[in-house]
Amino acid sequence: MKGSENKALNYQGYSLKDSQLFIEKIPAAEIARKAGTPVYVYSENQLLKNMEEFTSNFKDSTGGLSTRVLYASKAFNTIAMLELVRQAGLGLDVVSAGELYTAIQADFPMDKVVFHGNAKSTSELVMALENHVGTIVLDNLHEARKLKRLTETMLEEGSLDKDLSISVLLRVNPGVEAHTHAYIVTAHVDSKFGVLCSDLDTILQISELFNQDDFPVHFDGFHAHIGSQIFDPEAFKAEIDVMCKFIVEFKKCSSMKVRTLDLGGGFAAWYTPDDQPIPIDLVCNTILESIHQAQKENSLHLKNLWIEPGRSITANAACTLYRVESVKHTPNKTYVFVDGGMNDNIRPALYDADYNCDLAQRMDEEKSEKVTVAGKCCESGDILVKEDYLPAAMPDDLLAIYTTGAYGYSMASHYNKLGVPPVVFVKDDQARIVVRRESLEDLIKNEVDERLI
Ligand SMILES: *Cc1c(COP(=O)(O)O)cnc(C)c1O
Repeated sequence: MKGSENKALNYQGYSLKDSQLFIEKIPAAEIARKAGTPVYVYSENQLLKNMEEFTSNFKDSTGGLSTRVLYASKAFNTIAMLELVRQAGLGLDVVSAGELYTAIQADFPMDKVVFHGNAKSTSELVMALENHVGTIVLDNLHEARKLKRLTETMLEEGSLDKDLSISVLLRVNPGVEAHTHAYIVTAHVDSKFGVLCSDLDTILQISELFNQDDFPVHFDGFHAHIGSQIFDPEAFKAEIDVMCKFIVEFKKCSSMKVRTLDLGGGFAAWYTPDDQPIPIDLVCNTILESIHQAQKENSLHLKNLWIEPGRSITANAACTLYRVESVKHTPNKTYVFVDGGMNDNIRPALYDADYNCDLAQRMDEEKSEKVTVAGKCCESGDILVKEDYLPAAMPDDLLAIYTTGAYGYSMASHYNKLGVPPVVFVKDDQARIVVRRESLEDLIKNEVDERLI
């Protein structure tokens, strides 16, 4: 955005004083001075507000559905974050041993944990069973058979209590696919996730594996997830419609109860002024109204309705602070080079994602120069901001890129042997480091010369 308008004020959790950017009540420059750059900085109050908006609006006061909001932790999974999620009373999605391990370290109640993934290993399934996660979402027939066998073995060995109750959902592909502004029904039949709704044979086989009352793992319902950064509430309506009709078809062929429907996540976040995400309260209401209507039309009586927001909880709660290293003019562009890059935010390279930025100590100056912010990695695609306006940047300026709270830290890599930046949580006038900066020693700590064979 060109001119003198202040971009920071488009985002929540920021304020300005004397041309300085404040994150909650602390100047960005002070955080950068103490923690160094690059650094991910989260506003705790914004995280809590986003979660509260989901839990307070996703409640079914009239329809009798028991609702649950599960935080899809792949968006940003650290102990400090999962402690906040626990305090806010949400459930949790994990997709790997590492995410589950972090949840255990954060004392997350395991009955509220849902284990996802399309290629769970034996050790991951054993870990899920041993820790008594509440729900496992199965992706395919091989995985279902593996879980059945493992459960039987663990029962025989006495390492699993037969009175336990772990529920299983089956991920299906409803053929509704949504990406940003468009959604398509009966598309993407070759998705790697889930079993096609039309493949009733496989679906019946999987559910029948978990059909015994005296078995600790039992079939409980279905899961679907139709995409990410979804702006159109109609996409969720279509998903609900297709899922309810599918459940009717399933029930025609099976005597098993379908108690739980998990609709997945994908609620859009606000990255730049071009984005118009559906407000959280509206998306929750749309989903609840649609499910009431669809249940009535199809004579269904589900017990549990779950959603799994990830990005919409964390994206707008963080920015990344970088130091400008240099500025370079090419015939058609002005590059601002910073001390981070695609290793701390791969989304522009991976998804062509857009971000806005500011010079955090020159907030009141006229934004006269069109720039591209690029990182220090050896890839032409190492761009952090494709295009935005800044005051003419200088080496050592502090640059803040907004809305980096989702899939930034969690997708970070060590490319070019750069350390993953630290994470700072700010609350009111206090800031704490929740992930420390990796040292050069950290970068080689697993490098050994050990005899294998
Ligand atoms: C990624 C994912 C989510 C969260 O998606 P967001 O776009 O971050 O809301 C939820 N559920 C499942 C199964 C996912 O794979």
